[in-house]
Amino acid sequence: MERFKEITKKIDFMKCSFCRNKSVYFRRNEGHHYCKNHFIKNIEKRVKRTIRANKLIENGDRIAVAISGGKDSANTLFLLNKIFKNNPKIKLFAITLDEGIKGYRDKSVKKSEIFCKKIGVEQHILTFKKEYGFTVDRLSKKMDSGYCGSCGLLRRYLLNKKARELKMTKLATGHNLDDECQSILMNILKGDLLRLVRGGPMPMLTRHKKFVSRIKPLITIPENESELYAELNNIPFHPKSCIYSVDNPLRGQTKKFLNNLDKTSPGIKYSLYESAIKIMPFIRTKFKSGKIGSCKECEEPSSQKVCKVCELLKSVK
Ligand code: SF4
Ligand code: ZN
Repeated sequence: MERFKEITKKIDFMKCSFCRNKSVYFRRNEGHHYCKNHFIKNIEKRVKRTIRANKLIENGDRIAVAISGGKDSANTLFLLNKIFKNNPKIKLFAITLDEGIKGYRDKSVKKSEIFCKKIGVEQHILTFKKEYGFTVDRLSKKMDSGYCGSCGLLRRYLLNKKARELKMTKLATGHNLDDECQSILMNILKGDLLRLVRGGPMPMLTRHKKFVSRIKPLITIPENESELYAELNNIPFHPKSCIYSVDNPLRGQTKKFLNNLDKTSPGIKYSLYESAIKIMPFIRTKFKSGKIGSCKECEEPSSQKVCKVCELLKSVK
């Protein structure tokens, strides 16, 4: 009898806490099991809440989703399309950057093309080769280190420029809770508190008419839940990480550190995120960022006479 009770308890334990169907996910910080249906509904509810609570999207918006072919950006496009496809006042597009990373980006760009076609979203693909005249593969051969950071700089610059040229009002990225927590911790570790205010669901970038507002609808969704959501919805995505991410060891170590903490203290990433959100307004008033002007060479927003991208382009060519 005892043995039977133990087995039924075990079977019971694997059922959804909301409908008793088979569980596909256990959220440790809540102690709840989720079946496929309730898991999908829960993710969508949380993304909608982030959008509504932070007024990320308004009628009249033209939204460009920066889709790389990975799970997070594909989920962002899938979710925004699902939520807004019947709203004629909101238009959705996709922008994909091909940095020229053989064996990685070529594969993920293909996945993004398949996905955009599948859901009928207009996609704009831009290559570093055409826009900048070189690939990140070449950059990595020219620089001993720092090419991942340079690639990130070039990506942000191009995404903002193209989104603006395409008359977008918002630029949505696939940043998830893990990405955000890593950035929060890294900025604190580096003593870069001003950069901390660039976090949050709609980062307060220094106002400049050439900046397109960035939004992060997936910011409260942990990475493992984002992956499961993509799998349960049959969203095509490239599962591998960029081969050059090893060039950013601090991010890799911060990721490991946070994941280890989360094993013994489930939910710690949510508390870190919530703490950062609460601190941001104080940092914003205490540390005013410098005035932002325009780069005298490319006329994009810059706090220096010549922007970092123009400097980088000169050193590479
Ligand atoms: Fe570029 Fe670094 Fe991202 Fe790879 S990980 S795509 S090198 S920013
Ligand atoms: Zn410039």
